[in-house]
Amino acid sequence: MPLGPGLLDELRRILGPDGLVASAEGRLVYECDMHTFYKGAPDVVALPESTAEVVAIVRLCRGERVPIVPRGSGTGLIGGAMAPLGGVMIGLNRMTRIVEIDLANRAATVQPGLINLWLTRAVQERGWFFAPDPSSQMVSSIGGNVSTNAGGPHCLKYGITANHVLGLELVTGAGEVVRLGGKVADRAGYDLTGVAVGSEGTFGLVTAVTVRLLHTAEAVQTILASFGSIEEASEAVSAIIAAGIIPAALEMLDELMIRAINEGTGAGYPKDAGAVLLIELDGPRAEVLAQAERVATICRERGALDVRVARDESERALLWKGRKEAAGAVGRLAPTYLLQDCVVPRSRLPEIMRALRAIAERHRVQIANVFHAGDGNLHPLILYDDRNPEELERAKAANEALLHACIAMGGTITGEHGVGLDKAKNLPLQYGEADLNFMARLRRIFDPDRIMNPGKLLPSHPACGEGFRPARPRVPEGAWI
Ligand SMILES: Cc1cc2nc3c(=O)[nH]c(=O)nc-3n(C[C@H](O)[C@H](O)[C@H](O)COP(=O)(O)OP(=O)(O)OC[C@H]3O[C@@H](n4cnc5c(N)ncnc54)[C@H](O)[C@@H]3O)c2cc1C
Repeated sequence: MPLGPGLLDELRRILGPDGLVASAEGRLVYECDMHTFYKGAPDVVALPESTAEVVAIVRLCRGERVPIVPRGSGTGLIGGAMAPLGGVMIGLNRMTRIVEIDLANRAATVQPGLINLWLTRAVQERGWFFAPDPSSQMVSSIGGNVSTNAGGPHCLKYGITANHVLGLELVTGAGEVVRLGGKVADRAGYDLTGVAVGSEGTFGLVTAVTVRLLHTAEAVQTILASFGSIEEASEAVSAIIAAGIIPAALEMLDELMIRAINEGTGAGYPKDAGAVLLIELDGPRAEVLAQAERVATICRERGALDVRVARDESERALLWKGRKEAAGAVGRLAPTYLLQDCVVPRSRLPEIMRALRAIAERHRVQIANVFHAGDGNLHPLILYDDRNPEELERAKAANEALLHACIAMGGTITGEHGVGLDKAKNLPLQYGEADLNFMARLRRIFDPDRIMNPGKLLPSHPACGEGFRPARPRVPEGAWI
């Protein structure tokens, strides 16, 4: 739907000549996020520098019923920051100021385009950090983290983004500026901050975020334990948690992933292992040392082939290198992959791993696994060759099958990446008609004219006023087979 010249003129008046990307080649950069399956370039990209400019753009678009798509750094993995219906994309990456650092109240207020890691860098010399650490933290924006409720390797101990957001400034789809939450704990009224975190730009645009800062731990220990099988490694995970130890991170990698990492990154993970656990403990030094010993013992008792404890920061960095570069390393095994993000209760990890193997066999695909084992948050990578359309179809079928398997085991369709365009169709697997209709009505409170990020998160946004009817029933136990 091409925009009228009046709207473009008006946008130019609000933002000045450098505040718009309107050329075909310029807009192409914004046609997808990191889930490159889904493409849709906006008609124009607006790059505001202040909340007032965001408000003016939203009011203009609302008046003309033009869709708006918010965008942070575009690292999302869900088809979120792309424009299937065209319209105006609002890129927040010129709003990168740290507005306030308030260590006495353990808080900072930032603009949404600030890169996650920049906040930690701004406070680390004073002994503080911002805990949510998606593996994309060197490039993803805090506004994007808030809108997807991002997780990361250290969320097992520290919690997900929602646990660190104290307050938000939101420009709703109605063009109002609302301030949700704030630094003071236990505020009166509804917890609207909690409602808005993870809303994926469907309520409006986050224009400021007040976050919690934490004090850096005195000591850190990183351990790599290798096992003959994924089942043994899963049992070690359960035993560590059952011993009352909550590691800062507890990541698992399977055999195929270990091979890719060793070939692609030189991280030197044990070659013959069927699974590797990367375990990080942090806290007061004496406690960390005692826990590290206990964890090593538990791993050995559960059949670990090898247990390595990083002796210094460079060894620690090498152990993490493999994990952090895992997705890139998979390029050694196949030209393309579908990356899934789903969750099962931790106790069902061995079972879901068996199910994944059966799915891989049935659909004749390879599946490499790297996941946040402590949270039961899986990231299977389904490998395929995109030059072969038949292989792509098999990969897609395996992708759907493994989502069904997770739901059938009491899990969810997303652990941390969100829903976006990709999984809107899958939401009825997890929620009933009444739940989805309630969410659709809530969305309309913030966005009465349905202009905010249409097609994302809920399965029937265009019809949400008329009520949602699920096309498929929820998945019964064992239905994936
Ligand atoms: C290599 C790699 C590793 C990753 N690792 C992780 C990980 O460990 N954990 C994890 O959770 N994710 C991970 N991700 C996914 C992604 O980085 C996160 O979802 C991140 O939070 C997205 O931030 P972004 O700034 O790129 O947002 P975008 O991709 O630009 O946007 C994401 C969604 O939020 C909306 N949005 C963005 N900014 C705003 C705003 N200011 N107001 C309202 N809505 C907004 C967009 O419309 C879109 O729906 C990874 C991605 C990559 C490429």
